[in-house]
Amino acid sequence: MPRIRPAVALAVLFLVPACAQPQVDQASLVRVLSVLADDSLRGRAAFSPDAMRAADFLADEFAAIGLEPPAGQEGYLQRFAVYSVTADSVAVMLNGRPVDPANAAVSVSAAGIDWTQETGPAPTLVGRDGNLMDAWRSARGTDALIVADPAHAESFARIRGFLARGSRSTSPEGGSSTAIVLAAGPVTSYAVRATARTAETPLANVVGTIPGRRADEIVLFSAHYDHIGIVRPVEGDSIGNGANDDASGTAAVVELARYFKAAGRPERTLLFAAFTAEESGGYGSRHFSEQLDPDRIVAMFNIEMIGKPAVEGPNTAWITGWDRSDFGPILAAAVEGTEFRFYADPYPEQNLFYRSDNATLARLGVPAHSISTTPIDVDTDYHQVSDEVGTLDLEHLAATVRAIAAGARTIVSGEATPTRVAPETLER
Ligand SMILES: [Zn+2]
Repeated sequence: MPRIRPAVALAVLFLVPACAQPQVDQASLVRVLSVLADDSLRGRAAFSPDAMRAADFLADEFAAIGLEPPAGQEGYLQRFAVYSVTADSVAVMLNGRPVDPANAAVSVSAAGIDWTQETGPAPTLVGRDGNLMDAWRSARGTDALIVADPAHAESFARIRGFLARGSRSTSPEGGSSTAIVLAAGPVTSYAVRATARTAETPLANVVGTIPGRRADEIVLFSAHYDHIGIVRPVEGDSIGNGANDDASGTAAVVELARYFKAAGRPERTLLFAAFTAEESGGYGSRHFSEQLDPDRIVAMFNIEMIGKPAVEGPNTAWITGWDRSDFGPILAAAVEGTEFRFYADPYPEQNLFYRSDNATLARLGVPAHSISTTPIDVDTDYHQVSDEVGTLDLEHLAATVRAIAAGARTIVSGEATPTRVAPETLER
């Protein structure tokens, strides 16, 4: 290509409108990252006011960029509630005799439990040689009564501690009940009664859009803004800042919104989502997925932990579920000729495709993948109080966001459309 003389170059600059030259700005990326990971947000635990403060901050960012709230939503906060249900009073009769409350553990639906052998589930017996943990795991999500031989006292105590924390449900009536009783079988008759106490916790995703020419073809950029909050102190520090996990991805989503807004009206409609409660049940992405027809989502760029270079080296990022659609190959082709490379998740044994919000959308058929650079096998800061901005490589972060913007180009323009994921091939 011939060298352009400065005068001509200047003329070209003036001819091209400013909006045609979007830039990923490392300074604005780092500003958003630093606010999210600051001690004042106390680790952004979902179900805490700290996460809601983070949501308000992100909503202000979306407003400043000039995103629009998605259709049917007032403002950028996509509000919903999760109901925490704990058992209040528990009474169990077995074969006509009351069971010592210390030998009964329950988790209740919001309606509570009122079972007898006629109205309740058939009891599952776990004998001396059985496996209580397995029985409990396979009963999850269903109404179940498990009667376990006293030989399983140790497992029982562990489950009891877990159940005491209560259960969560997205509907005020929803959920199932489980009762576990430590007693020798067989069971000829029983009665289980428990009342439930329900507390409603408000949660919110933050969602904004840039409407494209094609309203029914959506490209989704997402990350989770929640983290693990306050944890066991290490040398006086008890705040899990979650700078890499996933303030880095959330800052990337904000920066990509700024970038694409500056690029003018896109062909496809762009949606930017910061999810809540990824770290505690995936409630945010699940609620999000129920607010629109997933068939309209052409691709989901879920960005998870891009603040540290991958073990494969700088200017590389990996994509989970590479073989499940041709999303990965499309991104790889879009950055060909640059120094950046996208490739398949190098940690298949860690099941990362299923360990973030993309899986919720993938199960609905969306080509939904997580993009990450985290050296998860050697990283000592993951889910530790030391996941702070100071441990990140900010040049790498900016380079990765630039690569994602470049990698998304053909999907945003409508030139490329990833194949759908086959939901029936996915683990539930
Ligand atoms: Zn994460």
